[in-house]
Amino acid sequence: MQIEEIVARCREMVEEPSFVVVEQWKTAHPGAKAVGCFPVYSPVELIHAAGMLPAGVIGGSNQIEIAYADSRFQSFVCSIVKSTMELSLTGRLKAFDGMVFHSICDPGRNLAAVFKRNYPDLAVEYIHLPQNMASPATLEYLAGEYARVKSSYERLAGRTVRDEDIHQSISLYNRVRALMRRLYSIRSETPHLLSTAECYALVKAGTRLPPEEHELILQDAIAAILRRSSRPKDRIKVIVQGAFCEQPPIELIAAIEEAGCYILDDDFLLGWRWFLEDVPDTGDPFVALAQSYMNRSTYSSVKHDLRHSKTAHLIEKVRQLNADAVICLSAKFCEPALFDYPLFRLALEKAEIPHLALEFEEKMWIFDAIQTEVETFVESMLFD
Ligand code: SF4
Repeated sequence: MQIEEIVARCREMVEEPSFVVVEQWKTAHPGAKAVGCFPVYSPVELIHAAGMLPAGVIGGSNQIEIAYADSRFQSFVCSIVKSTMELSLTGRLKAFDGMVFHSICDPGRNLAAVFKRNYPDLAVEYIHLPQNMASPATLEYLAGEYARVKSSYERLAGRTVRDEDIHQSISLYNRVRALMRRLYSIRSETPHLLSTAECYALVKAGTRLPPEEHELILQDAIAAILRRSSRPKDRIKVIVQGAFCEQPPIELIAAIEEAGCYILDDDFLLGWRWFLEDVPDTGDPFVALAQSYMNRSTYSSVKHDLRHSKTAHLIEKVRQLNADAVICLSAKFCEPALFDYPLFRLALEKAEIPHLALEFEEKMWIFDAIQTEVETFVESMLFD
């Protein structure tokens, strides 16, 4: 199959706002449950090992109108919180038996409580991720938190989850994450062979499909990309930073590229690509997942790790990939992203790396203004 066809199928699936593919999975697996995972990172292995489908509930993008959710929240809150509520208020999340949220920010925390109160029959889980990675108690704490979550999912699934079940799920997700890392490295080394809009659709398909199917899609996609022949264009090479939770519309990603950028790396759908290397699939699985969260995961504005500076990670990434610039692309009202921006800005200025700051909202429809802004930035670099 041609890559264009694979991408088109993925894009159609991920832009459909009613999770039809999750309903289809449940029909094909009578009695099995599905759990919606709000960004950023969820230990999906614990859900999968219980025979359930973990699927990303990552807002409504620009595919839905907000008609009801506005009345549930204050005005100055990010779009993903409202659109996720809208998805549920309009019945689009009815395929889900549970939802999981995490301690990423106040709106995310409050959304979990709003879901719990509005949907008493829904299994709402809240994972308290550690805020202090340097404490000697962190590993034991997080492994214990994951064991608690596993027990909760055993009750939801109505079955016992053995360590071997989690090992198998870890191994499967390791293979999928390795394929996504391969996809990202093809894009950073040969960005003319794979656009970021395409890469995004391929990765996002895995937030809805079972990992067994996503693995096959990624294998086919990588083979098809490597058969492609296209010539590099005269574009600047950038890294996009800041859209780790709420996701920009695919058209916005395409507009940045069309304005003259090759995006070598980004933090889109970060939680689904969270680990930089494989999670051990032997021994105590809770310790393996907890150690990996602490020591094998990417830096992020929602992960508090005072052992490593996020700004140093960003500068190192720019240097490693030989990027020309950084685009700081933050969701409106996203506190973790906006709090980190001044730090990134200072570090980039000190390192003399040009950057452009942009804000987006899910419900954007018109991209001309942002494209013009990026074009101006690109021209200022190409003709400097
Ligand atoms: S977009 Fe930002 S503020 Fe909103 S839920 Fe996500 S991390 Fe929190």
